[in-house]
Amino acid sequence: MPDGKRPKGSCLAVQVTPGQAHSARIGYEPRQEPGQGEVALTVLECGICGTDAEIEQGLYGAAPPGEDHLVPGHESLCEVAALGPGVTGFSPGDLAVPIVRRPCPENCDPCSRGRWDMCLTGHYAERGISRLHGMLRECLTDEAARCVQVPKDLRGVGVLVEPLSIVEKAIGETMLIQERRGVRPLRALVTGAGPIGLLATLCLRSRGLEVTVLDQRPQASPKARIATAAGARYIDDLQEPLERATAGEAFDLVLEASGFAPLVFRALRRLGRNGAMVLTGVTAGHHTIPIDVDAMNQEMVLENQVLFGSVNAARQHYESAVQDLLAWETDFPGLAGQLITARHPLGSFQEALSKDSDGIKSVVEVTGS
Ligand SMILES: [Zn+2]
Ligand SMILES: [Zn+2]
Repeated sequence: MPDGKRPKGSCLAVQVTPGQAHSARIGYEPRQEPGQGEVALTVLECGICGTDAEIEQGLYGAAPPGEDHLVPGHESLCEVAALGPGVTGFSPGDLAVPIVRRPCPENCDPCSRGRWDMCLTGHYAERGISRLHGMLRECLTDEAARCVQVPKDLRGVGVLVEPLSIVEKAIGETMLIQERRGVRPLRALVTGAGPIGLLATLCLRSRGLEVTVLDQRPQASPKARIATAAGARYIDDLQEPLERATAGEAFDLVLEASGFAPLVFRALRRLGRNGAMVLTGVTAGHHTIPIDVDAMNQEMVLENQVLFGSVNAARQHYESAVQDLLAWETDFPGLAGQLITARHPLGSFQEALSKDSDGIKSVVEVTGS
């Protein structure tokens, strides 16, 4: 916590200097009044993910124009504290999640249609990541039109809306592609049982698919237990490699969420006829592996396979995330909440950034619950 008295009209915030490793500290940000069409938000919780770790290591992130620092945090759950003039659809006390990405200034074709997740210029801003402050702070103001309403019943898991929006897009796009081709996926493989992989598992299970989840943690690990509790089969790749555990099987849908590129190509070989594979993990490093590209090419052509990548999410995917979290309270009572394996107060945000191999999602409790 910073020394001295809190400046009047300010709120506590995590600040980083983009490009500088381990610069994260707690400072003050101005507390603003909501303008026309804006809401004042109290940040309740903020989830931490790999992107935040990269920003903390100085590998990623950009400060807003004219500022020397960035407030990180893009996976939040907020409470509406006050309404600016002209706001409809929100009341004080409502729960809300600000949408992370904002359209590019050129308002390119996808951005102009609300599909900023498909932006063509790359000049978009992202809350807590690029050119726009994030939610690791006690309060902020935002345009009401850029916030998604979350029912109060989801107070415990609403912080998962943003990561789930990524999954909703990846699975939604896969299903759209397959519907257009007249293919109905029945059997899915999810590689990587981090938050994205496990949220995808719940998503696919609730849509009635048979799901196999792969990671490198033992069967007794929390990741394996959540996958199994959702009715999925869990494979520990270290104990029994994917190829052996699924010998003779083929999958209609593969969702890659490990972010480990060599696994991407192993998983692709498990894809069956008319199958589709979606990549969601951003891989780091420069791995090179010998692959039989002729066999891969032949298989993909002769079996009508689709391979594509998916990033970010549009409003519709946030809204699907809210609907799914509500449905899961009945389908898998309490299970989504088990993905949150640690909660830290704002003053200990550094602990939320540190890696714990059995942890799944760490959350910073920004303002006391
Ligand atoms: Zn994230
Ligand atoms: Zn754009």
